[in-house]
Amino acid sequence: MSIVILRQDDKIDEWKKALKARAPHINVYSYLEEHPKDDMTMALVWKHPKNTLSRYPNLKCISCSGAGVDFIFNDRDRPKHLPITRVVDPYLASDMSEYVLAAIFSHIKNLNHYKLEQTQAKWSPKSYLRIQDVSVGIMGVGELGKTLAKDLVQYGFKTLGWSNSKKRINGVNSFVGEAELSLFLEQTAILVCLLPLTNKTKGILNKTLFTLLPKGAFVINVARGGHMVDDDLMEMLDKDHLSGAVLDVFHNEPLPTSHLYWQHPKVHITPHIASVSDTASVVPQIVENYERLMSGQPLLNEVSITKGY
Ligand code: NDP
Repeated sequence: MSIVILRQDDKIDEWKKALKARAPHINVYSYLEEHPKDDMTMALVWKHPKNTLSRYPNLKCISCSGAGVDFIFNDRDRPKHLPITRVVDPYLASDMSEYVLAAIFSHIKNLNHYKLEQTQAKWSPKSYLRIQDVSVGIMGVGELGKTLAKDLVQYGFKTLGWSNSKKRINGVNSFVGEAELSLFLEQTAILVCLLPLTNKTKGILNKTLFTLLPKGAFVINVARGGHMVDDDLMEMLDKDHLSGAVLDVFHNEPLPTSHLYWQHPKVHITPHIASVSDTASVVPQIVENYERLMSGQPLLNEVSITKGY
C-alpha cells in the first residue's frame, strides 16, 4: 500500500519529503527509483510521463497535485476505471485572484503601456480607468473563479460570471451556458478565462468569441493554453479590436523562443505561475484521500469522469 509520485519537473523530492513529513507511516516512492509496482495504491501525478500509469496493476486512485486535470484525460494509457481527484485549496484560489487583480490593475492604470514607453524614454500620459467603470467577466466560476469574483465585487468592479450552472454570489451577474454567452461577452471589458480544458472548452477563446467583446476589451488567460486560438488572438490585437492580453498558459510550455507572442507589444507573458500548488497546504488533503482510499470512504475533490473536470 504505497504512493508513487509521477511528474517530470524537479519537484519530486519536495513532494516526497512533504508527504513523508506529514505521514511517516505511508510508503512514498518517486517513479524514478526502484519500487514494487504491484504495491502502488495511489499515483500522485502532475504532467506525468507517457505510458506510466498502466504499469501499476493495483492502483486505486489517480491523485492530481494541481487543480487542472486535462493532462490526465488526455493520457490514452490512463486506466479508465480509476477515480481521479484534484486539488481544491484556499491558497490556490487566493494566489490566482491576486495574480488576476494585479493584471487588471496594471491594465486599467496603463502600467503595461508605460513599461513599453520607458524602453524608448517616452513621456506620454494616457487617461486611466476607474474601478467602478470597469466590467470584468469571468469564464468559469468554480473554485478559483468564485474567489476572484468575490474579490472583484469587494473592490467595486462590475462583475459577471459565465458557467455551466447558475451561481448565486452577491454582486455577481451570473450567465449560464452557450445561450447566454453572447449576452455575457457584450458586457465584458476585461475577460478572464478560468475554465477547465475539456472537449467543450478547447479553442473557446477564438475570433468568433473575441468579436462579441466590446472594442478595446482586454483578455487574461490563466486557465490553459488549449483554450486559446493564438492566431485569432493576434489578429484581433493587430486589428485593435482587443487592447491587450495577459497570458500565463500556452499550448507548448515553456513557450518556444520563436513564438510571435514574445515580441508582441500587446501581449504580456508569465511562465505558468499564476497559482502554484503549495505542498504545505495541499499535502494534508492528499494524505486524507489516501486514508479514505484505505478505509473505503468517499474521496475528497473527485472530478467527474463524464464532464472532464
Ligand atoms: P472548477 O472545476 O472548480 O471550475 C470550473 C468552472 O468552469 C465551473 O464554474 C464550471 O461550471 C465552468 N465550466 C466548465 N465547463 C464549462 C462550459 N463548457 N461552459 C461554461 N462553463 C463551464 O475549476 P477551478 O476553478 O479549480 O480551476 C479552473 C482551471 O484553472 C483549472 O482547470 C486549470 O486549468 C486552471 N488553473 C491554472 C493555474 C495557473 O497557474 N495558471 C493554476 C490552477 C488552475 P459549473 O460550476 O456550472 O460546473
